[in-house]
Amino acid sequence: MEFESVIGLEVHVQIKTRTKIFCGCPTTFGGEPNSQICPVCAGYPGVLPVLNRKVVRELARTALALKARVNSHSIFARKQYFYPDLPKNYQISQYELPLAEKGELSFTLDGQTRTIGIHRIHLEEDAGKLLHAVGNKALNHTLVDLNRTGVPLMEIVSEPDLRTPEEASEYLSTLRTRLRYLDVSDCNMEEGTMRCDANVSIRPRGQTSLGTKAEIKNMNSFKAVRDALSHEIRRQEQAVQAGERIVQETRLWDAARGVTISMRSKEEAHDYRYFPEPDLVPIHLDAAALEDLRKTIPEMPEQKRARYADQWGLSAYDVNVLTENPSLSGYYEETLTSSWPSEQQAEAAKPVANWVTTDLLGRLNAEHIDPADSPLTPARLGELVMLIQDGVISGKIAKTVFDEMWTTGRAAKDIVQAKGLVQVTDEGAIARWADEVISANEKAAREYREGNERAIGALVGAVLKKSAGKANPQLVNKILREKLSSKPS
Ligand code: ADP
Ligand code: MG
Ligand code: ZN
Repeated sequence: MEFESVIGLEVHVQIKTRTKIFCGCPTTFGGEPNSQICPVCAGYPGVLPVLNRKVVRELARTALALKARVNSHSIFARKQYFYPDLPKNYQISQYELPLAEKGELSFTLDGQTRTIGIHRIHLEEDAGKLLHAVGNKALNHTLVDLNRTGVPLMEIVSEPDLRTPEEASEYLSTLRTRLRYLDVSDCNMEEGTMRCDANVSIRPRGQTSLGTKAEIKNMNSFKAVRDALSHEIRRQEQAVQAGERIVQETRLWDAARGVTISMRSKEEAHDYRYFPEPDLVPIHLDAAALEDLRKTIPEMPEQKRARYADQWGLSAYDVNVLTENPSLSGYYEETLTSSWPSEQQAEAAKPVANWVTTDLLGRLNAEHIDPADSPLTPARLGELVMLIQDGVISGKIAKTVFDEMWTTGRAAKDIVQAKGLVQVTDEGAIARWADEVISANEKAAREYREGNERAIGALVGAVLKKSAGKANPQLVNKILREKLSSKPS
């Protein structure tokens, strides 16, 4: 039997705020355990939550960017369960009347555009963290850190519209890029500012009703999401083929063993006894407030890609790399627009894109630096590319200058001058080197004369080497060819 898999994702994203959702405690990461707590987030009796205005604004902006409907009236709900990381014994979340519903997110995979429905987007507070070990040392008791309790989250629930693990991963990365453009969240799966639960079922191809789903938790990278889903789909197919029935359950991904393990079945599922939160007033967002928020939505990745291709003629590859991260596209645009007048930008666009996507991005990634914090500024990179355009230095020498700029922060011009790196365009000097190289490499010279076009490469390389990389390669090529086409003296 041929199966089709059906996937829906529940994504939790930490909303970027300075303070928590219902109190003034800081949200900064990595503080001493329990140093960022107060009676409200620690769940003391008698305290009252006060809603952080920014989280509502950020969720509404996200909803608008995901073409979702923002409800003018929405309420909070208590989701009740007992667990040591939850001091109040309930989590303030939204159940009925979430802040936003019915959105969509599109992406292109293998040349096909897919549009995935978004069922709802709601607000909730994070729980604390349990520590079962300190460093590598296992404890025989458990410690509780409440710094994370009350950190604002939004949950984005997709419709079961995804069909493969690759689609699930592409949906996540498209969502991440969009949230980063909105500056709503860092969306870092490894650091836990983006977390994902994956629901998956299978059904015989052609069947329209949904099969019984399993929910998988505990994946902390895109790769883990793909691997866990692939494994789970295979497990369900094998079970059905062996005549078993799939049971609705929650499973945990064990990355070390590469398997999902059952955590609890439907019978053991929690009954959260949701009810409206009596300590918080309903949220009202009128049309005027939404209009104001709509104005704060920046250009989104798809628009940016279209504009780069249109305005600057960049390839699909360059455009995709440059727009993956808004901070990188910001760097690119600043380099181009601050260094060249608009009528010259199309010509500089491609060389600047090359420098940004290879040399600069390579360095930034290797040193884990965000483009916005690059020690090499856009203006400085622009100067370097101009020196190449003007023929002052060769592309090869530019690599050396780039390295030097990166470490010293000095201007390209100064480095070129101080180190005497100006390109040699003096034909007399190049001709002398060419003569020396031809007599020292008789074999290659003969081969070229006998019609082996490729033999010229070694000769060009040798001249460049003699010039310490400073000879203009086009001139070297031209002069060598002239000399080799005349009779040997
Ligand atoms: P639950 O009540 O168990 O949380 P929901 O209906 O809220 O289930 O759906 C949670 C997530 O699971 C959503 O992302 C939804 O798209 C997805 N989902 C629901 N049913 C299925 C199914 N049969 N197969 C795969 N995913 C599903
Ligand atoms: Mg659910
Ligand atoms: Zn607090």
